[in-house]
Amino acid sequence: MSKPESHQFQAEIQQLLNIVIHSLYTDKEIFVRELISNAADACEKLRFNQSSGKPVHQSDIAPAITVATDDKAGTITITDTGCGMTHAELVQNLGTIAHSGTKAFLKQLAEEKKPDVGLIGQFGVGFYSAFMVAKRVTVLSRSLSPEETGWQWTSEGMGGYDITPAADLPRGTKITLELKDDAKDFAEETTVERIIQRYSSFVPFPIELNTKQINTIQAIWARSKNEIKEEEYNEFYTFVGHDHDKPLFRLHFTADAPLAIQSLLFVPSRNFESMGMGRIDSEVNLYCRKVLIQAKAKGLFPEWLRFLKGVVDSEDLPLNISRETMQDTSLMQKLNNVLTGRFLKFLDEQSEKEAVAYEKFYAEYQRFIKEGVVTDFTHKEALGKLLRFESSSTDPGKLTSLADYVKRMSSEQKEIYCLLAPNRAAAEASPYYEVFKERKFEVLFLSDPWDEFVMEHLREFDGKPLKLAEKADLNLSANKDGTLTEDAAKALAAWLKEILGDKVGEVRFSQRLVDSPAVVVDSDKFMTASMRRIMKAMKQDDNAITATKHDFEINPAHPIIARLDAMRAQDAALAGSVAEQMLDNARVAAGILEDPRAMLTRLNQLLEKVLTKA
Ligand code: ADP
Ligand code: MG
Repeated sequence: MSKPESHQFQAEIQQLLNIVIHSLYTDKEIFVRELISNAADACEKLRFNQSSGKPVHQSDIAPAITVATDDKAGTITITDTGCGMTHAELVQNLGTIAHSGTKAFLKQLAEEKKPDVGLIGQFGVGFYSAFMVAKRVTVLSRSLSPEETGWQWTSEGMGGYDITPAADLPRGTKITLELKDDAKDFAEETTVERIIQRYSSFVPFPIELNTKQINTIQAIWARSKNEIKEEEYNEFYTFVGHDHDKPLFRLHFTADAPLAIQSLLFVPSRNFESMGMGRIDSEVNLYCRKVLIQAKAKGLFPEWLRFLKGVVDSEDLPLNISRETMQDTSLMQKLNNVLTGRFLKFLDEQSEKEAVAYEKFYAEYQRFIKEGVVTDFTHKEALGKLLRFESSSTDPGKLTSLADYVKRMSSEQKEIYCLLAPNRAAAEASPYYEVFKERKFEVLFLSDPWDEFVMEHLREFDGKPLKLAEKADLNLSANKDGTLTEDAAKALAAWLKEILGDKVGEVRFSQRLVDSPAVVVDSDKFMTASMRRIMKAMKQDDNAITATKHDFEINPAHPIIARLDAMRAQDAALAGSVAEQMLDNARVAAGILEDPRAMLTRLNQLLEKVLTKA
């Protein structure tokens, strides 16, 4: 055998090896991912060469990867039938740094107390992670070029490497790691199997471990849609989603611009958060060319989409992306933006095409959509399209979209009206609903306590302002018979203000009531009854709440009002009691009466009076 040729590593590689060999990095297992990723790249290159018609040595051998562990010898060997390396390539690829981003990575590693070697692969030096666990690495390689021969490359790390010719090698590369004493675990089949499952199960070439094939599920997101069977999708979902139910929705899409993306996303059939499991984390894994970059990637989607599961693969991810800074890079934001926009479009399409499934989706996930409206300014409009509510025009229990509401609006109507009420019956009985009913304006019935907040953030839809019924500036079409004269009305209002004193702000006549004698209206233009309730529950700004007065609006056409006016002269005390009771009744309707027990004494006295007269 000829004398081995000795080489020194390039200075930067020596520096890198120094850190890698001595690092106390805990996730040393990532070397398996790196070496398999290199093997997969080599298989990809072989395939590319073959498809472009170049002559290839042993072209009948298919690209594949084998891993062998030997716990007695304390070794792990990774073999591929890929492109292999020539002598020059061995020197170039396993001795020098090819990527410019690597220097920055080195600097970062050298500065950190506990360097995150896990990023090594993304800086184009993944191969050297082998030295975290190996005292000696041997590479046997034979290039795909028919005229080449085989070579052996060996290194113990810091001392450089030796190259000797190696005859009769099959095409491809075989890398053997003689493990350090504290890394003998990686010569155990079970350990290695777990690691491959974790990082490399979607590598698009068969991986065999000690003659057993282990990556049965392939990178299906990279395949064309019409080749994939329903069962394959579902099997894949079970794998990534850890969920044995079928997904509710599936979106498989590819984009070339502005970013190259292959993505397969699923919506689980149940909202796991509502099942008492606490806040869920997004389970979308980020890949670059089918190699896992980050499981449950942070920042890939906005928080409100955290129920999604699946895979995003983008070959545009730069080599110098680090796990910590990944969330902040503009590329991540761009990716996030494209993915979110695409998914919103998908949901909108589904709501048309798959109405029943969308209904189920909405029932499960409406709180996430609403969270999006409130927190995601960029996509607010698209999110608004996805909202659904019961309304005065829907059948009980059925929901409408804002878009359909707008379609039904008459030219007379300029705003979208919403009424907060715990349920449909309460909404229909509300005094605030009367004017809408009379004028035949549709009103959305908002029953989720979040809705008011959500509408506040949405502000408008399709150019139409969203307006709470209690804040709407609407009049009934015409006054009714039996209405008090203007003078009488003014006098009655003045008298009421005198009786009710500080309990109310202004007293005035209302143009919005039909069946109710009176209603309270917040004197603060921006406050609503439910907002006050929430603030009170949160014990915020207690003074401001109690200090606010509600204006009292009365219905000049209501019989109680006419009789009250007459009663003023006959029995001032009784009229006063009735006025107080009317105010409390209006407060009950608005949901702001604090202690209903206080009015019972008065109510009983009134009942007593009614019964003595009878
Ligand atoms: P990267 O994979 O990002 O280029 P690595 O340090 O992992 O960086 O590998 C360096 C180079 O070594 C690769 O680009 C490739 O050219 C070569 N290489 C490594 N492993 C193999 C292999 N199994 N077959 C062929 N070439 C390989
Ligand atoms: Mg690599």
